Amino acid sequence: EPILELVDVGKSYGNVNALRGVNLTVRQGEVTCVLGDNGAGKSTLIKIISGLHDYTDGTMKMHGEVRHFGSPRVAQAEGIATVYQDLALAPLMCVWRNFFLANELRNGPFLDIPTMKRVCGEELVKMGIVIPDLDRPVGSLSGGQQQVIAIARAIHFGAKVIILDEPTAALGVKQSGVVLKYIAAARDAGLGVIFITHNPHHAFLVGSHFVILKLGHVSLDAHRDELTLEQ
Ligand code: ADP
Ligand code: ADP
Repeated sequence: EPILELVDVGKSYGNVNALRGVNLTVRQGEVTCVLGDNGAGKSTLIKIISGLHDYTDGTMKMHGEVRHFGSPRVAQAEGIATVYQDLALAPLMCVWRNFFLANELRNGPFLDIPTMKRVCGEELVKMGIVIPDLDRPVGSLSGGQQQVIAIARAIHFGAKVIILDEPTAALGVKQSGVVLKYIAAARDAGLGVIFITHNPHHAFLVGSHFVILKLGHVSLDAHRDELTLEQ
């Protein structure tokens, strides 16, 4: 049940080969962790999957069909949700508006304000986060809470693949723990999660599958059971 497959994908920016020969399979209910140093091609990979850039070689398939999304809007409509490290949410906008922002941008079903507040509150409670005042600007919440709201929002709006760009990079131990818990929840809810991180420890806590990018190519691709010490 692969949702998304990259087969021999390459991306060049003029003379720079940012990615070459990349194979990556994202499956339902798995967390694919992508690790790599700066310049390895992680951002380029995110941009390709989220429809910001097109690839220049190979093929990307979603549910077995070759796709060139062409724009983030198309990628989103196909169920790709991208949670960026810093601009996951609009900081000055309140919690419930952020929650429904994508719905509005996509011209989703009309909902009145009391309904949006109620649904947002219920969804967050369901996910186990308590935000006492949904009228607060989201920027006044902790970084961990913001990441979790973005993940909850993606799940609520039917994401099939969720790309998390260094979601724990700016967080301390406790908040990282909260975010990792929601990554596991998204995985267990049957989403395909792509977890971009520099932190091998965080990767191993939730990862099903590990890909290391090095100078644009995959230098390691291993399942969890291939990395345990007892074999
Ligand atoms: P990472 O996110 O792992 O740091 P990037 O995907 O940002 O890696 O970059 C991979 C390589 O491609 C780097 O050598 C970078 O300088 C280059 N690169 C990224 N985007 C562009 C671009 N738009 N034009 C030219 N080179 C780029
Ligand atoms: P496409 O969406 O068709 O893949 P790009 O978005 O790659 O096209 O092209 C955007 C342009 O922005 C590139 O030609 C590149 O010169 C420039 N650019 C963006 N980011 C970088 C970067 N990190 N390094 C160098 N150039 C960049």
